[in-house]
Amino acid sequence: MNDERFYPQIDIAGTPREMGLAHGRQLRDRIHATGKAMREKVGVAPYEAGWRAFQETLAYCRTHAPDLVEEMEGIAEGAGIGFRDVFNINAHLDLMVWKRLVWDKRDKGESPGCSSHAVATPSEVLLGWNGDDWRGWLDCGAVVRGRPTGGEPFIYWSLAGSVGRPGMNTHLALGANSLPSHCWRPDGLLYPMLSRRALACRSTEEGVELFRRSNACVAMNYLIADGAGNLADVEMNAERVVVQRPADQGTEDYLLHTNCFLDADLAGAQVDPDAVCPRLTAARRLYREGMPEDAAGVRAVQSDHTGGVCVHREESCTVVSFVAEVRAGRFHVIRGNPCAGWARTYAVG
Ligand SMILES: [Zn+2]
Repeated sequence: MNDERFYPQIDIAGTPREMGLAHGRQLRDRIHATGKAMREKVGVAPYEAGWRAFQETLAYCRTHAPDLVEEMEGIAEGAGIGFRDVFNINAHLDLMVWKRLVWDKRDKGESPGCSSHAVATPSEVLLGWNGDDWRGWLDCGAVVRGRPTGGEPFIYWSLAGSVGRPGMNTHLALGANSLPSHCWRPDGLLYPMLSRRALACRSTEEGVELFRRSNACVAMNYLIADGAGNLADVEMNAERVVVQRPADQGTEDYLLHTNCFLDADLAGAQVDPDAVCPRLTAARRLYREGMPEDAAGVRAVQSDHTGGVCVHREESCTVVSFVAEVRAGRFHVIRGNPCAGWARTYAVG
């Protein structure tokens, strides 16, 4: 737990409130650090204005995901921090998009990088995710493993205080990448909440249906891989959801995604996946040269420096890198860059 080479890992179980309280108590210091960093990154005035703007989002979440709002209330109580800070930790990505589009009135902006790989080999289904973001989050992340009463056991990596993000359950694994948002809608579920809902699904098809019927505040990509080897690549913005399968991307057994729309309608123009993003170009080339057959093979692509899949910049880096072995139920997590880090392995459930 105190080894700085690894993210802290907690176990939570029970009702939403019980899980929230356990989460808040075990990650108390890290949740306070995350809340403080979030306020500083957003800035005092937009942080205040954002809370007013997100009241409609909070009301929407209370109606459509009351259990997850209750869990956030438990986290706040357990950590001894205000509910607003916990909600804003969960709204991290959504709040940054709101700040750029609504507060700063800028349509263009750099989105944090991320890469997701899903591959079905003859013996295993693998899903890898590099979360690339501000270096400061290295001291704010955590691995959360849960056993909800009457629900599917899950495990995910996120910022302390978040109710979800990419991870896995005993049926499937989930990756995610932010996409360029040109509008923000208040009446949607936050990215960690949508992720957590996906981690309650039992198949890729169930996950696809979830995203098809969900509202998201910002544009996102979700990659889903289940134990049967069904892979789906979901792109959604405030208005539409598009689902691609390996055949749509010219592959048979794998899907690769970074932070660009691949669907022509959503992108607003025809997209060449081999040229749209250097990290995607590199991953596609490496997969063509030799499709990964195991977690180490996915890790090798996640560690690529020819196209910068493994991110080393002054302010940002790959803050988390994981590989999920869906059939075996193993979750291998590295804190920081995969080229240099040590993986710690967790069993789901
Ligand atoms: Zn590296």
